[in-house]
Amino acid sequence: MQSRRGGGKMSIGSAENHRPGCVSGARTPEGYHTSVALRPLAATQGCKVSMPPTLLPAHRVFIWTIGCQMNRADGERIQRELQRAGHASADTLADATAVVVNGCAVRDNADRKVWGMLGMLKGLKKSKPHLVVGLTGCTVHAGEDELAPHLAPVDVLFDTLNAEPLLARLARSAPADVPAYEDVEAQPAPGAGAVSRFVNVIYGCDKRCTYCIVPFRRGAQRSRPIAEILDEVRRFRDEGAREIILLGQIVNAYGFDLDGTALPDVLEAVDGIEGIERMRFTTAHPRYMTKSLAEAMRDISGVCEEINLPVQSGDDWVLKRMARGYSAAFYRDTIAMLRATVPGVALTTDIIVGFCGEREEHFRNSLRLVRDLRFDQVHVAAFSPRRGTVAAEWPDDVPQAEKLRRLHRIEREQTVIAEDINRAYLGQRPEVMIEELTPGKGDRDEPRWRGRTRSNKLVFIPDHPQLAPGNSHAVRIMAATPWSLRGSVTAEPLV
Ligand code: SF4
Repeated sequence: MQSRRGGGKMSIGSAENHRPGCVSGARTPEGYHTSVALRPLAATQGCKVSMPPTLLPAHRVFIWTIGCQMNRADGERIQRELQRAGHASADTLADATAVVVNGCAVRDNADRKVWGMLGMLKGLKKSKPHLVVGLTGCTVHAGEDELAPHLAPVDVLFDTLNAEPLLARLARSAPADVPAYEDVEAQPAPGAGAVSRFVNVIYGCDKRCTYCIVPFRRGAQRSRPIAEILDEVRRFRDEGAREIILLGQIVNAYGFDLDGTALPDVLEAVDGIEGIERMRFTTAHPRYMTKSLAEAMRDISGVCEEINLPVQSGDDWVLKRMARGYSAAFYRDTIAMLRATVPGVALTTDIIVGFCGEREEHFRNSLRLVRDLRFDQVHVAAFSPRRGTVAAEWPDDVPQAEKLRRLHRIEREQTVIAEDINRAYLGQRPEVMIEELTPGKGDRDEPRWRGRTRSNKLVFIPDHPQLAPGNSHAVRIMAATPWSLRGSVTAEPLV
């Protein structure tokens, strides 16, 4: 993909078509000086960006991320690469000498936020002309026509999987007001200290759901080698993680492009890493929800009994039009198999209402499915066409007010079901892993701890000396709402 800006060409992964040049720098009384050789280098020649950090100009980089968990994980990875190259994190835009816009393109609304951010940065660059702006995420794979009007403030486009163009661009521009590397305070790794960390195991998607832009932006499915995944898990464990959430657009397609390795193998291997107590994986696709994966959920002790399995519609005509690749009956059978195999499994799903051509009887089938299957949680969204998808070519023929009526109808139904399910926890003592202390606010002055059950129920607990992030406790549940539980510690930590 190439985009034009001001007559110059920008392309992903090429840092304005220059290879990184050699950079040298030294702190002098006059400031920080660098000399940059822009002579193109053969890949095997010359210095690389990962040169000794004391020779690098250090930037303070603000990473702005929107979108899904995959994007958050990508943002953290980019931040780690920046730190390895000697750059620091900026807590605010005002403090930054470089900004990374990690965009999302799943919804038009997300795109609009990215364009808004770039518009704001264009204005900011008038007062901070040395500010370096990088653009990454799904956004960079948009068509040239869509991207070009917004690129004025952007210095470098790069793919989330390859931050080298960004590092090269930063290495070529010493920030005017930033101390040399050795003066920048050491910082904890991004996400360090968090109890729960995301690890990408598979990138891209080979499906072509007619409403979805992801395959066009994230490319074909690529599984990460298992050794690389385990290295990342160990690093996160060393930084304090106790729970690992394996991520993928279709996480349970992991290994389809490898020889004989599948998601259960990854789960088993992660389970063998000392210090990791819980694992989850998301997002799963119904077509890949095999009996052997369900058995792995049951048999591998660290895997939590909880899964998000998006159905999107309970109607066969709509499912076919969405190109989801299964029928409502297939989905219902899959849920029955999961419940029979994994005792007490908690189930959540995603539903789109008001898809092109969805009539009242189609919607009623979705409502019936929600009622019959009694999910722990349902994420319901009103369809909005996404430019570049097949569905965007079809009439968006369900009026917005009707979409909202259907959305609220499912939400009302689900609220009753969720409260019913959560009330079954009253008086029980599930194992809760403590995540963090949340401050008091409004009519609740006291801070309280937040944690999760293995079934992913959010639990709030009054402050208690035994509680600390990463510990697991038996918590007696005293109150339940459709969205969370409240309880108090009843025993010594379980672990
Ligand atoms: S499975 Fe469908 S909805 Fe999910 S990322 Fe792939 S194309 Fe999009």
